[in-house]
Order: sequence, then structure tokens, then C-alpha cells
Amino acid sequence: MPHSDTVAVHAGEPTLDRKDAPITPDITVGSASGYPDLKTLDAAMAEHRGYGRWGTDNHRQLEAAVASLEANGLATRLDAVAVGSGMAAIAVALMSEMNAGDHVVAAHDCYGTTVTFLRNDLPRFGIKSTIVDFQDLDAVRRALTDRTRVLLCEMCTNPLIRVPDLEALAAIAHDAGALLLVDNTVPTPALSQPLRWGADAVIYSATKNLSGHADVIGGLLVGKPSWISAARAFAHTFGPTLGPFDAWLTLRGIRTLVVRMARHTSNALALARFLEGHEAISRVNYPELDASPFCARARRLLPGGAGALLSFELAGGKPALESMLSRLQLVRLMPSLGSVATTLSHPASTSHRGLDPTERARAGISDSLTRCSVGLEHPDDLLADFEQALR
Ligand code: PLP
Repeated sequence: MPHSDTVAVHAGEPTLDRKDAPITPDITVGSASGYPDLKTLDAAMAEHRGYGRWGTDNHRQLEAAVASLEANGLATRLDAVAVGSGMAAIAVALMSEMNAGDHVVAAHDCYGTTVTFLRNDLPRFGIKSTIVDFQDLDAVRRALTDRTRVLLCEMCTNPLIRVPDLEALAAIAHDAGALLLVDNTVPTPALSQPLRWGADAVIYSATKNLSGHADVIGGLLVGKPSWISAARAFAHTFGPTLGPFDAWLTLRGIRTLVVRMARHTSNALALARFLEGHEAISRVNYPELDASPFCARARRLLPGGAGALLSFELAGGKPALESMLSRLQLVRLMPSLGSVATTLSHPASTSHRGLDPTERARAGISDSLTRCSVGLEHPDDLLADFEQALR
């Protein structure tokens, strides 16, 4: 079995079957292919080839790479389908799996727009959901109904970076005849393979660390070939196609995914330890810290590290946060995550702005809570920037 670094570099690469073929894939921009006769046209249409909404070679290369990374070291063969955003991946996963009358149990700390989709959009199609804290396994069990088809949670939640007990959740899902679907966007397949712990399928926002350079909006679903084949058929009808250039950029990002995630993770741990020891900081959330309640679980489920995201609170509250933000030189505010540069986000103004202050407090989101997506800078420079900004 090759190491994941090697899989990331080579999986999905085009065969060199053309004279002087470049080893970097071409980008297929044509929206449709041409055919010399009815027989070849018919064969292409039967296989959903030759029309851009069904994807091009760029999509197939990307899908092969992500499926190979996700399946690396597992006994199962996996397939993947690329779509136009992380939200499209969630929508395709849920809408291809469920019928009117079905029910999903989702974690309360899923990405805000995922929760909005479950609460506001799916009920119009007869699909209900119950949203609970997935750290409370009894609450998950109590939420099940005889129509529950999917349990949905995120690995390394945002912004408190909590780690769900995937093995226990998979057992609960399977006992109820449901699937465990995991949004693995934050750790990426370089650090986390939820199917290893019993999950049935995984979705990604490729917008984040998977593509890795804040220049793509994209998404992927990964799972057993039969599940992906149904999801792909739905996606081909529904139509949230990823652009071929975005598929190409995402695959190019994946070539360095494993080395990037190793550096993101070591930088994040160094920053978390620095902040934990700083008098201006009252709390740090990062699962690899010994003091984290998720440390033991993270070491088991995420042995290569917990990824780029951490969050922290300042003892001096929002005024102290504003002062730190005005002094940071390298680090900017950005309402996203997962790029090469270190960025900060303020959950109370972004992902959790729809909650009132009491609801925010209940969710553990204070006004000074800051989420950091740690980048690839040299750790000394990064720590020095925070040190001077917190002085
Ligand atoms: N899942 C997670 C964990 C996210 O953080 C996001 C976006 O921030 C999404 C899904 C949605 O992804 P996209 O913005 O690519 O639709």
C-alpha cells in the first residue's frame, strides 16, 4: 500500500497515451464533444460522456484522486463525485439518499448553512430533521425515528474544534438502519478517513484545505461505488457541476495536500501551545492540546494531527480582540478557512451572527472567540506576529 503522500501526488494522473502528452492534465473547456456517427454518439450518451454537465476528464481525474486517498489502506473500493460547492455536496448527498417522509439527525455544530438547509429547505420537500449535540450519544439515540435515514456530523467542528466519536455514532446509525455521513472538510483525507471508523460516506467543501489556496469553490462526495452512482445520477440531473478549471485547480492542490496538512497541523499545534501559555488568552480550543477534552479521541481518530483550525478567547474580551486585530501584520480576517495564509474569523459576526447573545453563549461562542485557520508561514514568524499583537 503506498503512503498517502504518494497517492496524493499520483492518483488520477492521465495516462501518457498521446505523443508528447504533457504530464500535467489538459483542461477540457468544451461543453460538449463531437462524434463521427450515430453509433459512437449513442455509446457516449448511454455512459453519460461527452456533455459538460456530466463532467469531463478533469472531474474524473479529481474524483479518482479523492476516492483513492479516502480508500487508502482500507479494504473497500470507493468512488467519488465532484460538484460545484461544499453545500452542493451536502444537498446532493441528502437529496439523493432521502424521500419525502424521511428524517435526518444532524449535529448542532454543523456548518451554519448546512443547518439552514436542514431547517428551512428540506422540510419543503417533506424531509424532517432533528438537530442535537452529537457529543451526547443518548440525545442522538433519542432523536432517532423509524424514518431516520441519515446521521450527519462534522469532523473537527467549527469553531470549537470538537471531535465526534465516529465509532459510537456509526454503531447507533447502523442499529437504526441509517447511514453515518461525515463532513470531513476540516481535517481532509490527509488526516482523517471517517470510513475507517464506520462512517458510510464523506463529503467535502473542496473550497477549503482540499484545494488549499482560497481560489476555488467546489465540493466532493465519497463513498461506496453503488452509493456514489446514485448520487452521481442525481447530480447529473440536478446540475451543480463543478467548472473544469476548478476541478483542475483542486487536483493541483491535492498534489501537495499531505505535505500542506502536515505543516498546517504542526503550525496549529505550535500556535495553540503558544496561546495556551499566554496571559492575554483565557481559553484555547485545539484537540491535540493535552488539556483538551478531545485529546485522547483525536490521538486515536486523527493520528497525523488535528488540522489547521483552532479557536481561542481573549481575557480582555472584544476590546482586546480589536486591539490584537489592529496590530497583527501577517494575519488577516477572512470569513473562510483553509488557505496557505493564516487567517482569523469572528464567529459571533459570521457563522453564528443569526443567534441572539443568549443562544450564542449556550453554544459556547463568546464575543471574543476567534477562529484561526493556521497557514503555512514559518512558525517562528507566526508566533512572533501574535506575540507582538498581544503585547
Ligand atoms: N462544510 C464545512 C465544514 C464548511 O466550513 C463549509 C463552508 O465554510 C461548507 C461545508 C460549505 O462549503 P462551500 O462554501 O464550498 O459550499
